Amino acid sequence: MNLAQRVSTLTPSTTLEITAKAKELKDAGHDVIGLGAGEPDFNTPDHILDAAKKAMDEGFTKYTPSGGLPSLKKEIIKKLERDQKLAYNPSEIIVCSGAKHALYTLFQVILDKDDEVVIPTPYWVSYPEQVKLAEGKPIYVEGKEQNQFKITPEQLKEVLTPKTKAIIINSPSNPTGMIYTTKELLDLGKVCLENNVLIVSDEIYEKLLYDGNEHISIAQLSPELKEQTIIINGVSKSHSMTGWRIGYAAGNQTIIKAMTNLASHSTSNPTSIAQYATIAAYQGAQDAVEEMRHAFEERLTIIFEKLNKIPGFHCLKPQGAFYLFPNAIEAAKLAGFDNVDSLVKALLEEEKVALVPGSGFGAADYVRLSYATSLEQLEEAVDRIANFMKKTIAK
Ligand code: PMP
Ligand code: GLU
Repeated sequence: MNLAQRVSTLTPSTTLEITAKAKELKDAGHDVIGLGAGEPDFNTPDHILDAAKKAMDEGFTKYTPSGGLPSLKKEIIKKLERDQKLAYNPSEIIVCSGAKHALYTLFQVILDKDDEVVIPTPYWVSYPEQVKLAEGKPIYVEGKEQNQFKITPEQLKEVLTPKTKAIIINSPSNPTGMIYTTKELLDLGKVCLENNVLIVSDEIYEKLLYDGNEHISIAQLSPELKEQTIIINGVSKSHSMTGWRIGYAAGNQTIIKAMTNLASHSTSNPTSIAQYATIAAYQGAQDAVEEMRHAFEERLTIIFEKLNKIPGFHCLKPQGAFYLFPNAIEAAKLAGFDNVDSLVKALLEEEKVALVPGSGFGAADYVRLSYATSLEQLEEAVDRIANFMKKTIAK
């Protein structure tokens, strides 16, 4: 069977692949610690579970409008107003089956063949594949470690062509945890406005910020930037609702309408009861969100110090999300490997610690550790990595 050309080079999501591999080993009885998964380890808060059960009991188990329940759109609009001081109409919002699906649908409706999308590296694994699936061309721009993995307006200007359609800004970033400042966003935004580049602002880690940092959406910086931006967000990370698959896009009405039409032929609508649960997530008290954020910050403080003490691992302190992204090429060399991929493989095979190699994020000298797991497991995992290094260096 010949598969379609468009999937011939499609690779599985590295993050999901590692997570599945770790689970497989665990199920086979191995004592694996998975630091691969980018998903909060907390259960979805009770009041959200209750709302889903109530929706089921009351028979809200039917198709909904393709773009999402009007009552959920209303809550999303209120959330954007409350948190970002941004005003949207329901026609400027689409609810999708996760932020990933919102991004996928967006690229399908904005890209023609060979249209270019600027993707700063390190990037979240799915961006390039989604752009390619829409026949677009990812244009990579290196966010250098000395600039906290962020790109500059000068770098952006250098890669612009008449084919540049959009840029993805992911702040806080997966995998680096870095955030763009207001000034940096304004400077990048200026280049985008001058060159009519659509800004895709992936804000899924908005609620996970540390050291007193606050989230800034590029869309809130001026009415022109709001017009130029599609915000992508959802409840997966903020409310520990990864499996419910609810995300959304907010922005230009024409784009949102096209996305809604496309969704009507692909998913029909996001799961009805998950939409009711999301209404409760946005309506209810946000204490659980803050409690989870607090737990992540506590883990970060402890684990960051421990990791940086391991020979060959060099890590910047993340400001948000729940990942550490150390440079580990020196560690790989010290352990006798040519590259970080091989080190990651050995750590899984010999120490049963699952990490995601930086190659999946377009930064091969790095490795991603998710700290969305218990402190006890995290400390054990870092001890195992330290032991591995000690053992291999001594050889
Ligand atoms: N964007 C980024 C940067 C992510 O890390 C994720 C994680 N899955 C997503 C989007 C998609 O989130 P979801 O589809 O679970 O809403
Ligand atoms: N976003 C998470 C991660 O980066 C979940 C997995 C995925 O959707 O790729 O690990």
